[in-house]
Amino acid sequence: MIPGIETSLRFLPFDGESASSFAVRLVRFVSPAWEKALRDFVNSDDAVGSVIHRIAIAADIAALAGVDISVVRAGMAIPDPNSGSSIHFGPFILNYDQISQLRRRIAPQVFANDISRKREPFHRSVWTIKALCADPETGELIIQDCPACGAALLWANITEVGRCGSCAQKLWLSPAKTPTGIDRELSSFYGELFHPDEKRRAALRQHLPGELAEWNEAAILEFVDSLATVFSLTPKSVSTVNSSDPNVRINGVRAILGGARVIEESLARPLREAHISSDRLANTITVAQILAIIDRNRSPNVRKYLKNTLAECAL
Ligand SMILES: [Zn+2]
Repeated sequence: MIPGIETSLRFLPFDGESASSFAVRLVRFVSPAWEKALRDFVNSDDAVGSVIHRIAIAADIAALAGVDISVVRAGMAIPDPNSGSSIHFGPFILNYDQISQLRRRIAPQVFANDISRKREPFHRSVWTIKALCADPETGELIIQDCPACGAALLWANITEVGRCGSCAQKLWLSPAKTPTGIDRELSSFYGELFHPDEKRRAALRQHLPGELAEWNEAAILEFVDSLATVFSLTPKSVSTVNSSDPNVRINGVRAILGGARVIEESLARPLREAHISSDRLANTITVAQILAIIDRNRSPNVRKYLKNTLAECAL
C-alpha cells in the first residue's frame, strides 16, 4: 500500500487492460507525486512492466483502487496451477516465453480511439503476445519504438500510458500503419486467434484440423513455430532457423490452416531433401533435428501429434 492514501475511490481498469497499464493510470490518479509513488509501489525502477506478473501485489493495487482483487487479477498473467510453464492471461492460456513486456508495445490509433471515446489511452494485455504484430480488433501494426524520436517504448521510463517516455510525444497523434505482405497474412491468423470477440476466435478454430481446434493458445503457438522451423530445415542447416522470423513463421501458419495433409507435407519436406542429398548421413541427421525440435515443445499434445505425423511420413 502507498501510505497516507485513502482508498474510498473506485478506479476501474478498462476491458482487456494490462495490470501494468492499470497501475500507471491508478497511481497517477491517486498521487500527485506519482513517479515516486509508483516506484515505491512496485519496489523497483523497471518493474512497472512486470506488474502483470506480480500476483503478490494484486491485493494492494485492488485496495488502492477500491475494487475487488479479481478485477486486478484479470489484467495479470496468473500461473497455471497444473503447469510450471503456463499462464492464464485474460481468456488465454500461454507459455511465459510467449509474452514480453521488455518493450511497451502499443497501437497509436487504438489510443486515438480511446480518446475519441473520452477515456484515457490504455495498454491492452493482448499486445504483450510476441507473435501478434497487429492489434486484433483494428488490424493496426503494433509498434515498439516512438514514431517521433525513435527511442524504444519502455515501461521503465513511462510517464503516461499514451506518451513516449523519452520525448513525451502524444503517441495517439501518430498515424496507423497497416501490415503488408507476409505480416498481413500473419496478423490475420494471430488477430483471429487472439480476437477479443469469442465468436471470432471460435470461427478461426473451425478451420483448424481435428483435435487442434480444442488446443489452448500456448499449444497452437508452439505447433505453428515447430512446423515453421521443420519446414525451413535443410540438410546443411544445424537448427539455425529462427521461427520468429516472419518469412519462416508464415510456413507454420499456412500449414496449420492448410489442414492435416499440408501439416504432413511440411514435416516430410526436409526428409525428402535429405533423401536426395549426396550425404549418406543426411537422413539420420534430419530426423534427429526434427525430433529435437518436437521435443522442445512444452505441450504434450503438440509433441504427440507431431511425432505421430512424423512416423507416418517417415514410412
Ligand atoms: Zn519519443
